[in-house]
Amino acid sequence: MKQPIAEIVSVGTELLLGELVDTNSAWLAGDLRDRGVFVYFKTVVGDNRQRLRDTVARALDRSDLVIVGGGLGPTDDDLTREAIADAVGETPQVDPTLLARLEALFAARQREMPAINRKQAWLIPSAEPLDNPVGTAFGWLVRTRGKLVVAMPGPPHEMKRMWLDQALPRLALGPAGFWHTTIHTLGIGEGSVGELLAAFTGQANPSVATYARRHGVDVRVAASAPTPEAAAGLARPVLAEVERVLAPYIWGRDAETIAQVIGRLLTDRGQTVACAESLTGGLVADTLTDTPGASGWFRGGMVTYTPEAKRLLGVRAATIDKNGVVSEPVARAMAAAARRKFGADWGLATTGVAGPAALEGQPVGRTFLAVTGPAGTTVAAPPTWLGERRQIKERTVNGLLMLFFRLLRGEPTP
Ligand code: ATP
Ligand code: MG
Repeated sequence: MKQPIAEIVSVGTELLLGELVDTNSAWLAGDLRDRGVFVYFKTVVGDNRQRLRDTVARALDRSDLVIVGGGLGPTDDDLTREAIADAVGETPQVDPTLLARLEALFAARQREMPAINRKQAWLIPSAEPLDNPVGTAFGWLVRTRGKLVVAMPGPPHEMKRMWLDQALPRLALGPAGFWHTTIHTLGIGEGSVGELLAAFTGQANPSVATYARRHGVDVRVAASAPTPEAAAGLARPVLAEVERVLAPYIWGRDAETIAQVIGRLLTDRGQTVACAESLTGGLVADTLTDTPGASGWFRGGMVTYTPEAKRLLGVRAATIDKNGVVSEPVARAMAAAARRKFGADWGLATTGVAGPAALEGQPVGRTFLAVTGPAGTTVAAPPTWLGERRQIKERTVNGLLMLFFRLLRGEPTP
C-alpha cells in the first residue's frame, strides 16, 4: 500500500493510570518513522469495551493503519478482540485451527487449557491471525473498508517480534525512504536556535525541529522520499545550512555524547584530563566515565566540597580566604591543582552555589568553571543559572564540557 497514515492505540488501565509507561507506542512510532510512515495520533485507553470500541472506530475514520497493543490475554478485562469486532460490526467465532494450535501449546507444557483461553482462538471474518512464537496470544490483522487494523499483545518482546516478523511483511508498505539526523548543540537556548532556523522550521519536508534536552538543544533534520538515497539528497542542503548557522554551538551528532567526543579528541592527541569538583559533587567525573574507554584519557578526580578539602587538593588557604570559595581564582586554582595532583595534561574544575540559599554573598546558580591545559587556563562565569540543585549541577557540567571541547578544538571561547 502507499505510505499510510498510522495511529497507535495502547490498551490497558495500568497504562492510563501511569502505573506502567507506554514504551510500546514509543518503539512503534520510532519504527514507523524510520519507514516513512506518518503517525498522527496515539491514544491510551483503559480496559473498557465501549471506550475501546469508540477509540478503534474513531481511529479507523481518520487513519489508514490502526495498531492496537495489549488486551489480547484470556481474561475478562482483555477486551481488544471484542472491541475491534464491535467497531467493524462482526461477531467473533472460535477458529478450529487456532483452537487446535492453542490446545497443542498447552499440551506441550503438560497443562490442560482453561476454558477462558478459548477466546484467544477467536477470529472475525475480516481478520487474519498473526502468529506469536513467544506467547499464547495470536494477533489479528483486520482488513476493513480499505483500511487495516493490527492487534498485537502487550508484552514488549511479543509485540516487537509480531510486528517485525508477522505484521510488516503483510502490510507491504510502499518503497519509502526516510532519512534523519540529530545535531547536538550546547551554549545556545532553544528560542535562539528557533530564530536562527526560522526559515526551515516551518517546512514539512525536509523538516527541521528543535528539542531542548539536558545536554543542550538538539536539532533534528529529516526528509522522506521514495528511496533512502533520495531522502538523504533532499535533506543534504538543509543540513548543510543548519550546520553553517549553528557551527559555534555544535558538538556532535545522533548517539554521540559530549564526553565521547572529548574522549576521542584527547585520545587523538594522546592527552589526559583530571578534575576537581565542588558544587557538581562528582558529576563531571561521572559524565566522563560513562564513556567506554575513559580509562585511556581520564586520570581521576576529587570532590573538594569544603575549603579543607580544597586545601587538601593543593589550593592555597590564602586564595580561598581572599576570594571566597565561589570565585574565579578558586576555580582556577582547583583546576591547576587537579592537573598537578593527577599528572594530567588538562585540569577541569567547578565551583558555585547550587542552592537553596546564597553563599558568601553569591546568589544561587552562580558558578565558575575552569579549564587548565598545556597553554594556560581559561575561566568562565556563565550567566547565573535558574533551577533546582540538580539542574544547576547538570548545566554546570554541560557548560564545563562545552568549554573544554572548544579549547580542545582551538575554537574561541565565549
Ligand atoms: P497477556 O496475554 O500477557 O495478558 P495482553 O495482550 O493482554 O497480553 P496486556 O495484558 O495489556 O497484554 O499487557 C501485558 C503486559 O505487557 C503488561 O502488564 C505490561 O507489562 C506489558 N505491556 C502492555 N502494554 C504495554 C505498553 N504499551 N508498553 C509497555 N509495556 C506494555
Ligand atoms: Mg492481559
